[in-house]
Amino acid sequence: MTSAASVKKEKTALKIYFNGELIDKEKACVSVFDHGLLYGDGVFEGIRTYGSLVFRLKEHIDRLYKSADAIELKIPMTKLEMMDAVIMTLKANSLKDAYIRLVITRGPGDLGLDPRKCKKPTIFIITDKITLYPKEFYQKGLEIITATTRRNLPQALDPRIKSLNYLNNILGKIDAIKAGTVEAIMLSYDGHVAECTGDNIFIVKKGELITPPVEVGALEGITRDAVIDLAKDLDMPFYAKMLKMDDVYESEEVFLTGTAAEIVPVIKIDDRVIGDGKPGKSTLKLTTAFRELTKTDGVRY
Ligand code: PMP
Repeated sequence: MTSAASVKKEKTALKIYFNGELIDKEKACVSVFDHGLLYGDGVFEGIRTYGSLVFRLKEHIDRLYKSADAIELKIPMTKLEMMDAVIMTLKANSLKDAYIRLVITRGPGDLGLDPRKCKKPTIFIITDKITLYPKEFYQKGLEIITATTRRNLPQALDPRIKSLNYLNNILGKIDAIKAGTVEAIMLSYDGHVAECTGDNIFIVKKGELITPPVEVGALEGITRDAVIDLAKDLDMPFYAKMLKMDDVYESEEVFLTGTAAEIVPVIKIDDRVIGDGKPGKSTLKLTTAFRELTKTDGVRY
């Protein structure tokens, strides 16, 4: 490589926030003794920017600290310092319309489980381009399935904790992939609808917007909360209610919510057509309102 080319490469190398410093992607390495890697012992967030607005950054940071609290992991930074670190990383990479992955692990320890052996959490922030679902998914709607894998029992590993242990979701995702789809509905151990492998689920039935309560075993999605707020603004009757698959099959509309997916309509589940097989009116109304919200609701950088 010519020296000019190497200078160019240096300039464009992605910077990662790693334990208080901004370093090149190639140098951002975690120890093989890190309990995040050995045991999935840690927490994370997936955040998105729209232009130069980090959507609901404060809410994501609050959820991160809640997850950390739930696993008794003390983050050695204040929430404000964490928000500054996110903004600093975005600026260092001159990124707009980005995806942010914020990870806190228990840190390096020994080969035993004991978290007390891990003296210093590992903190890193990756900011990169975002991969979106194709437009067609939004225009035509998704066809999904019900996963055979059940969602983790909240009394065992509460899905409200956004932990690094995502194996339960990955098994659900494998069910989806095998069925030739991109998402799958995961049920609680006793057959109630919980959420999807990486998205929350909503239905519209008799004009009411319904999503399962997070206590059934679902992440309290930031997009889910935003949609609930929008439903109130739009005078749409909303309820968090326990649902069985029959309720979902018999609903007029189904849609999924997530940071990357935003609001994506579902038109078929397990070969059962939902409503008239097209993205529904309420879904479209909420999508329009959500897109407006992404222009203002967050932190600018
Ligand atoms: N459920 C699960 C299991 C998730 O991993 C996610 C995030 N991808 C969601 C729901 C949606 O949450 P959010 O709207 O905060 O992205």
